[in-house]
Amino acid sequence: MLANYHTHTVRCHHAGGTEREYIEAAIAKGFKVLGFSDHTPQPYPPQYISGIRMLPEELPGYVETLCALREEYREEIRILIGLEVEYMPRYFDDLLRLIRAYPVDYIIQGQHFVPDEITGFYAGDMTDSEERLQSYVDLTIEGMKTGYFSYLAHPDLLYFTGPDAVYQNHMRRLISASIDLSVPLEVNMYGFIGGRWYPHERFFSLASEMGASFVIGCDAHNPKIIAKPEEVPHFSDFLTKCDIRTGDNIVKIRPLA
Ligand SMILES: [Zn+2]
Ligand SMILES: [Zn+2]
Repeated sequence: MLANYHTHTVRCHHAGGTEREYIEAAIAKGFKVLGFSDHTPQPYPPQYISGIRMLPEELPGYVETLCALREEYREEIRILIGLEVEYMPRYFDDLLRLIRAYPVDYIIQGQHFVPDEITGFYAGDMTDSEERLQSYVDLTIEGMKTGYFSYLAHPDLLYFTGPDAVYQNHMRRLISASIDLSVPLEVNMYGFIGGRWYPHERFFSLASEMGASFVIGCDAHNPKIIAKPEEVPHFSDFLTKCDIRTGDNIVKIRPLA
């Protein structure tokens, strides 16, 4: 594994460490590419302040900090500037306008809310509602179809506790779309290390059986999470169990233009 595209910074209010610490951790682990993809600012009405992302006015500082470090470390590692973005139909066009004003290399899709953070639900809340599952899958597919996302982060974030057959019905649609649209699915290391409900075998076995392509994402909210699969206890076993083979983990970046 030579690349990780999923790295946060303190601006999201739930990550620790400096950008430099993430970069030095990545160099120490032998990575050739480190992509930062902190939780994107969203162009919400000014009276709504999200507690899990930077504000739009913090975006210039994020980009400037990373541009300077990219220059400083250019001989040692390739730094990319990205964002982890929820596809929210109501805000997406404004969001693209906002981030295109900066040298942002890529975005990944992390569908934390359906249909948006202000009026919708958090995808990670336990649910047995098929309607929620269906709307998560529908919205995620709609987002992938925009063609802007370089990959789909934690595709199985939706925490469905209903029947497996219902789960598979809908997740098959999501996986098919990812194959048709060539959007790789992320196996999320942070969730695995934290013992979260994702990444889950029921999703990833199905996805590999269907022929999806995969990327490992550290989803580092802390420099210690910058690691290779073999360094994370039981993670390689999980990949083997799901029949996921990993290579250099280099992803084709989709331009935002
Ligand atoms: Zn986060
Ligand atoms: Zn993330």
